[in-house]
Parts: sequence; C-alpha cells; structure tokens
Amino acid sequence: MVDLQAVLDSIYKELTPRIGEGKVADYIPELAKIDPHQFGMAVVTVDGKIYRAGDAGVPFSIQSISKVFMLTLALGKVGEGLWKRVGREPSGSAFNSIVQLEHEHGIPRNPFINAGAIAVTDVVMAGHAPREAIGELLRFVRYLADDESVTIDEKVARSETQTGYRNFALANFMRAYKNIDHPVEHVLGVYFHQCALSMSCEQLAKAGLFLAARGSNPMTGHSVVSPKRARRINALMLTCGHYDGSGDFAYHVGLPGKSGVGGGIFAVAPGVASIAAWSPGLNKVGNSQLAAVALEMLAARTGWSVFGD
Ligand code: GLU
Repeated sequence: MVDLQAVLDSIYKELTPRIGEGKVADYIPELAKIDPHQFGMAVVTVDGKIYRAGDAGVPFSIQSISKVFMLTLALGKVGEGLWKRVGREPSGSAFNSIVQLEHEHGIPRNPFINAGAIAVTDVVMAGHAPREAIGELLRFVRYLADDESVTIDEKVARSETQTGYRNFALANFMRAYKNIDHPVEHVLGVYFHQCALSMSCEQLAKAGLFLAARGSNPMTGHSVVSPKRARRINALMLTCGHYDGSGDFAYHVGLPGKSGVGGGIFAVAPGVASIAAWSPGLNKVGNSQLAAVALEMLAARTGWSVFGD
C-alpha cells in the first residue's frame, strides 16, 4: 500500500504554485466572491483512515455534488421507477442546456445535469412541503458524514434564486411536459438549497464513503444503500458526473466522480477510498481545474483508476 499522506503532501507541494488557476463561477453572484487561492484535498479509506492536504477543512459550496445525495434519496423512495422521469445517458452538452430537453420531450438525459437534478428533486418532494424536503436532505447528509455541523449557506441559495433564470426555464419546460409535479418555484427553492450545501473536503469524503464501500459507511456502520445501488450510482458518476467533460475525466482520472461549480470534485475508488478535492477556479466546461489535476495525480500515484493501474 502506498503512503497516502506522502502522496497527498507531494500533490499539494507540486500544485501550490498553480493555486488560483482557472476562473471562479460568476453566474451566481455569491460564488463570484470566493477567493480562488484555495486548494484542499481529503481521502477517506474504507478502513476508516483520513488523509488531508491544504484547505481540506474549509467548507465550500458543493453545488452539483449535492445531486449525488439527492439521487440516492430519490432512488430510496421510488427505486428504479425513477428512470421514467430521467435518463441515464451522458449529455454531451453543457450542464444547463435546454436543447436536448426539447428533443426528448421533457425527459432530461441524466440525473446530474441541471434539468435531471431538478426532476429528481421533484420526486423527493412528493408528499413534503419544500422546507421538509430540504430538512430531509440536510439530515441525510449529516447522517452520512456523521457530522451535525454541515449547513446550508442561505446567502448562496438566495443569490441563485435571484439569478437562476436558466434553471427556471428548464423547470418550466419540464412542467409543460408534465415531468415536474410541484410548483416550479417550490421545486427550485429546494434545488437551490441543496446546491448551497456547504461542506469541507473532509466532510464530503466521509459523506460519500458508502459509495466506495458497497453501500455501507464503514466508519459509522450505517447501511445506506445496497451494493448493487452503490455500483449503479458510481456508474452514473463515471459516465455523467462531469457535464460535457465526463469523457475527459474518465480518460485522465479513471474514477467515478461528480463535480460542482463551487470548484469541488467528489470521487470514488470502489472498494478502496472516497476522495474530495476543491479549488474554486474552473476550466472551460465548468469543472475545477486544479481539483481535476490533483485527482489525476492521485490516481496515477496510487493505481486506483477503475481501468487498471
Ligand atoms: N446550482 C448550480 C446551477 O444550477 C449548480 C451547477 C453545478 O454545480 O453544476 O446552476
């Protein structure tokens, strides 16, 4: 077994001169204020050891990474019936694209593009007031991370509510096709709050450990999903987790993962570890520039790529 702390330390040292690279997401005004000169990484192994580098303890806006947790909740509620509402194919388009929705009659291509995630949120809301659905997600993430200090950044949620025109367009479009059951402003209220979850790399890696460990969190003993479901969520992350950069991420890193426009990337080495990396500067397709490089270095130095070492 490689010395993981030494690997993380070497990645941090080599990337330090590059911290600040990329462009912070500015279409959400509150995210535009983030200092790009931050970089953190955390690895939690299935035997419960935690390794950290840089700003691993600094909370950041996890944005689209939250889609993995909402998907897990939705599958728990409606099982495979979820796939009547959303597809499982990579999109090949931007995360907020509306074009494919028209071609596919209001059924989004996958649960990790915005339209798909909004439909998934609508599913989780069945029988709940919006506030209860937000509460359910927050409790779930705290339970997964075994950490009651995980919060939602209200300022980020408000900022996105005020500027989320495209998301309103996507939701209205799907509602016209009857693929959204609740009032659009309620669904988006929940969606914006889930995106505004604020977590550190360490909390995120702990919360997602069940996906590396056949559906159970070995640190808490909590069984979250079946091994089959964990495998399937990982498959979706591998094929659809990085917007229009999913193929590139598979090529360079070779791990199931999900990115967010807050600059975070969550990744899974099945059977071995869960990983979170964060640096706010994004590349052209909206994935964290430095976090992706850090994960590529980690996969190369550990041999963790699912495609072989
Ligand atoms: N809340 C963001 C949006 O809907 C999430 C985008 C992302 O992280 O991909 O625009």
